[in-house]
Amino acid sequence: AKQDGGNACHVFHPELEAALHDRVWLEAELRKGLQDAQMRLLYQPQVDAEGTIIGAEALIRWQHPERGMISPGAFIPLAEETGLIVPMGHWVLAEACERLARWATDPALAHLQLSVNVSVHQFQQHDFVAQVLAALADYQAPPERLTLELTESLLLANVESVIEKMMQLKHHGVSFSLDDFGTGYSSLAYLKRLPFNALKIDISFVRDVLVDANDAAIVKTIIALADSLQLKTVAEGVETLTQRDFLARLGCHHYQGYYYGRPGPAEDFEALITPSYAP
Ligand code: C2E
Ligand code: CA
Ligand code: CA
Ligand code: CA
Repeated sequence: AKQDGGNACHVFHPELEAALHDRVWLEAELRKGLQDAQMRLLYQPQVDAEGTIIGAEALIRWQHPERGMISPGAFIPLAEETGLIVPMGHWVLAEACERLARWATDPALAHLQLSVNVSVHQFQQHDFVAQVLAALADYQAPPERLTLELTESLLLANVESVIEKMMQLKHHGVSFSLDDFGTGYSSLAYLKRLPFNALKIDISFVRDVLVDANDAAIVKTIIALADSLQLKTVAEGVETLTQRDFLARLGCHHYQGYYYGRPGPAEDFEALITPSYAP
């Protein structure tokens, strides 16, 4: 072992080397991308039981000058690791508040709710509440139209401070959804104490809900739990009418997915709402 021990670090691992280089490259590009305003928000409709659009979820994309549109799955994990998720999250909030302020001036759009994903890292910043309130104030956006989507991993941290922050924002009119419900750590005891308005049923349970009895049972349980806590349920990843009807029979309240619309530019989303006055 001693003989090759000394040489171990000279062994060339092309794949490791490539991955490492990729990370270094990606982090540098990500910093630049944030500075150069290469991020975009896409908007995906959320509908109620009647299929009426009640709002949208804002989903980030990275419009890279050479590599084209990059999905969040490819850069959010690195953004989390490097802390870049914090400035990125601020940008998302500012962009969302700017959009909400615009909607507020248009009677056809003023009722829409805008949901924004917040990473745990971002939420844990000591000045998170102040940052959200500042973004709202900067654009004069109505806090009542803003929903923050938080994940269960939040509950691994100091629950008292989570409650405190949520309560402060709730006091200003901001709403909360629990994202990816059922995929992570959940403590029902804590859930009861947190001021959530809705539970989002993760796409992984919705995908096979028609053919997988386990998934159907999980969804049924989530909806029953939400009902007992007086929370709305939002099913994500609804791709077919059959899925929607099945979820509706289980008592689901709201829906989001390709069946209703893919994430798209703000203008495309707004065009779905604004009544057409064509003769
Ligand atoms: P998420 O919050 O669970 O968002 C739902 C994901 O499902 C989105 O992927 C959406 O495009 C996709 N989706 C919606 N309907 C359907 C459907 O019917 N079928 C299928 N197959 N997929 C559907 P996306 O946009 O790639 O985002 C992935 C994740 O990245 C999000 O998962 C969220 O965790 C994160 N993310 C997105 N935008 C932001 C952001 O601004 N900030 C933070 N912190 N995270 C974000
Ligand atoms: Ca989400
Ligand atoms: Ca999800
Ligand atoms: Ca998520």
